[in-house]
Amino acid sequence: MPTYHYDDCTFCSGRVTERLIAKPCVWGDRLVALVDQVPTGVCEQCGERYYRTAVLKRIDAVLKGRRQHARQIRLPVLEYVR
Ligand SMILES: [Zn+2]
Repeated sequence: MPTYHYDDCTFCSGRVTERLIAKPCVWGDRLVALVDQVPTGVCEQCGERYYRTAVLKRIDAVLKGRRQHARQIRLPVLEYVR
């Protein structure tokens, strides 16, 4: 797999390298899915994440073609305590 070259981080000018990580997909203000193994540019200094346009389009296709047997996880909803 050829590694995509990302521009340096726009926030801290750190080096951005590609990793495969889970991307939370949000619809409005609801988390609707986690897509795992997404090629993501991650800044080595500040951790900012960058997504390529082609990758975002693939994610869209994955979400639209979602199958019944997709793995599901439950997340606890915790109360914010001051
Ligand atoms: Zn950065």
